[in-house]
Amino acid sequence: MLDHARKLSNDDSRPLGERAAAASLQKDVSRLNYQVPTFVTSIVLVFAAIVIGWAGWQRGMESSFRFAIYGPSMAPTLLGEHQIANCVACDIDWPVVISDELDSVTCFHCGNQATVSNSTHAASVVAVHAHESVDAARLMTSALRIGDVVAIGSEGLMRIKRIAALPGDIVELSDVSLLVNGEAIQEVMGVAGDLHVPVPVLLFEMDKRRKLSRWRGDGWQRSQQRIWTSIGHDWLVYHHRSIHQRNQPSCIWDDYPYNVGLSRKLEPARRLAWNANVVCTERGRLEVVFWIDGRMVGVICDVDGQCELNISSDDAVVVEAAPVSAERPVAIRVLKGSVQLSCLQLARQIEYRLRPHDDRSHYPIRLGSKEYFVVGDNVPVSLDSRDYGVIQERDIKGRVELVESH
Ligand SMILES: [Zn+2]
Repeated sequence: MLDHARKLSNDDSRPLGERAAAASLQKDVSRLNYQVPTFVTSIVLVFAAIVIGWAGWQRGMESSFRFAIYGPSMAPTLLGEHQIANCVACDIDWPVVISDELDSVTCFHCGNQATVSNSTHAASVVAVHAHESVDAARLMTSALRIGDVVAIGSEGLMRIKRIAALPGDIVELSDVSLLVNGEAIQEVMGVAGDLHVPVPVLLFEMDKRRKLSRWRGDGWQRSQQRIWTSIGHDWLVYHHRSIHQRNQPSCIWDDYPYNVGLSRKLEPARRLAWNANVVCTERGRLEVVFWIDGRMVGVICDVDGQCELNISSDDAVVVEAAPVSAERPVAIRVLKGSVQLSCLQLARQIEYRLRPHDDRSHYPIRLGSKEYFVVGDNVPVSLDSRDYGVIQERDIKGRVELVESH
């Protein structure tokens, strides 16, 4: 029955091993007791009682067990068993959901056919830090924060989800976006400092003849090693093309290359992050501007020497002028000093939204004193509070921590 349930569900996890049982210790002690004189037996029994008592107390306070992720609901953050797709032309590979018939998929960058490895890659392994005693459970749940990844349900059929709203919060809608107390969930998670989820990186400045997304800047030179050097104060602009619009200039859509074969309505991405290695020969200053939801927002950063910069549109403020638009969503310029940029990467960050089939009439939802709203990071396919409603505090078994990923 359990196996059947696992096959039906798209977002469960299964236990890897068993916790050490205090009973085995007791069994060893009993055997010892049978063979030794009474005085020694007493000492051993007292010692054993202390050990078992300590083990029980520890178990009551906290115990942890490991699970392999099963299913796609937390991708790309936590992956179940998966396959790897590779596009030779773009020199990129990425994880895709397992499918028996899958030997090629459409490259999410160029639209060509990408090969899919025959082998299966192992699932991410997580540790669930469970609190079992009533007091400890209260302690644990009171400290839960928005953005925490938690295990819900039983050990045999565990669901791994991210907390989006806490007791007392109001979950409502703005168009298709989920809001918590009037703010987009992902922004609240950003404040919690816990969610900066990498999604497929768009890294493009290759063959000029190919119609692909790429960086362009008149006042910039690019070396063979793909190092960009600014000659003056001109803008380096990212020009985006999408396979969803036949490789024509396009906004960045919220597609999920992991979900092969899923057909759904796409929405424009409204959270971006830019990442690069920066080298300055003297103290330098950079301006990074994004086009987000029809607005220009930017960040100015000072760089001294060498560093890796991670700039999120969440941290940007409105700016007056920059050559950005929906199809050119990021622009960078040097305001001061001499700057070299390498390993330019752009990421779309996850946004939690309703899907067309989700029932909008449930919203707004005011969470009770022991209720939580949970979501999966694979927003289009996750089964979560958008489907089965709020979850109860007693069903949260513990926080989840990533132990191994492949
Ligand atoms: Zn490609």
